[in-house]
Parts: sequence; C-alpha cells; structure tokens
Amino acid sequence: MMNLNRVSVDLETETAWVEGGATLGETYHAIAKASNVHGFSAGSCPTVGVGGHIAGGGFGLMSRKYGLAADNVVDALLVDADGRLLDREGMGDDVFWAIRGGGGGVWGVAYSWKIQLLKVPQIVTAFVVSRPGQKRHVAKLVDKWQHVSPYLEDDFYISCFVGAGLPEAKNATSPREYQPHLKGFI
Ligand SMILES: Cc1cc2nc3c(=O)[nH]c(=O)nc-3n(C[C@H](O)[C@H](O)[C@H](O)COP(=O)(O)OP(=O)(O)OC[C@H]3O[C@@H](n4cnc5c(N)ncnc54)[C@H](O)[C@@H]3O)c2cc1C
Repeated sequence: MMNLNRVSVDLETETAWVEGGATLGETYHAIAKASNVHGFSAGSCPTVGVGGHIAGGGFGLMSRKYGLAADNVVDALLVDADGRLLDREGMGDDVFWAIRGGGGGVWGVAYSWKIQLLKVPQIVTAFVVSRPGQKRHVAKLVDKWQHVSPYLEDDFYISCFVGAGLPEAKNATSPREYQPHLKGFI
C-alpha cells in the first residue's frame, strides 16, 4: 500500500481524501502544508499507516476533544472481496459503521478515507512534569491521575507514562521538593 499515499486537502469543505497507504506523518504534513489552522484527530506516531489505524479506531492527543480518527471519517472507498469499489452509499450504513473501528483487513481494502479536518488553535501549550519515585509513590500518582484526568476540560490532554529510565526523568526534580505544591494531588 505504500505507493498509495496521496493526501488531497480541500479547505473549502474542510475535508481530505487520504489514500490507504499514507502514514499519519504524511497526512499531518499535507494538512499542515495546506493550512496552519487545521488538523486531524489521530495517533501520535508518524510512521503508523492510516489503513490499519483508522480501521481500528485511532486515538491521539486531540481525541478527548474531537473523538477518534474513525469518528472523523465522512466517506471511504472500499474494495470488497468481489473486487467492487464502493463508496459510503454503495457499501451501506452497516459496512460503513464496521470499517470505522472493526479492525484492518476485515471488511475489504480501504483504498481511501475521506476525513473531516478540525480547526486547531495556532498556539498550544505543552509541558512535561516528571516525578521520579518508589513504586508505591508512583502507584499513588497514577491512581490520582486516573481519578482527576477524566474531569479536566476537553481542551486539556494529559497522558501518563510510567517506566524506568525515561529520558524526561533526567531533568526531574526530586518529588520531595515538589510535595508542598502537590498537596491534594499526591
Ligand atoms: C509505533 C506505534 C505507535 C502507535 N501509536 C498509536 C497511537 O498513538 N494511537 C493509536 O490509536 N494506535 C497507535 N498504534 C497502533 C496502530 O494504530 C495499529 O497498529 C494500526 O493497526 C496500524 O496500522 P498500519 O496500517 O500502520 O499497520 P499494518 O500492520 O500495515 O496493518 C494493520 C492491519 O490493518 C490492515 N490494513 C492495513 N492497511 C489497510 C487498508 N488500507 N485497508 C484495509 N486493511 C488494512 C492490515 O492488513 C492489518 O491487518 C501505534 C502502533 C505503533 C507500531
């Protein structure tokens, strides 16, 4: 599928046709080249292909606010087992529903997805807060994160990475120094 990687952006309808072999990186790049106020809600890894990604759902940094990649598909061109090329109308509601989350390689070959572009702010703020600590301490933090994050504003995306030797930990301040500020959080 790698040669089927064209992305055609139409700013008038705020949509794009993305061929099934394009990567997320190629998709984001084409959208960014066409507009600096549009984006698409999908995963964070640029090497992932839209073929399997959208077919399986597709969760990313904008998904709390805008839903999954699959939620933002408005049409598709699917080659079914009989070799027919079907658009949304041709495949019918049930198949169009199934290809947006049912998994890749199940319902046919997605030749192309028509995706809904989303308006994004020109400036976003990002930050990393690192908390090195013992397992018990980290478990408490993760528990708290699970209770707090679902209730944050949809504009706020927060993810939690737990691991030994994460690169971010190098610049982290010891948790003890932060504890007074974190009262109520840990
Ligand atoms: C490094 C990495 C980072 C990831 N990050 C995220 C993330 O941030 N968010 C998230 O939700 N997921 C993420 N994933 C999971 C990713 O969405 C799935 O692995 C997805 O299935 C990848 O699709 P692909 O087309 O790249 O892979 P492939 O392995 O090529 O395909 C996966 C399946 O889809 C089928 N398929 C591929 N193309 C088509 C097509 N055009 N039509 C029909 N079927 C097709 C294949 O036959 C296969 O069954 C990540 C995966 C990796 C490896």
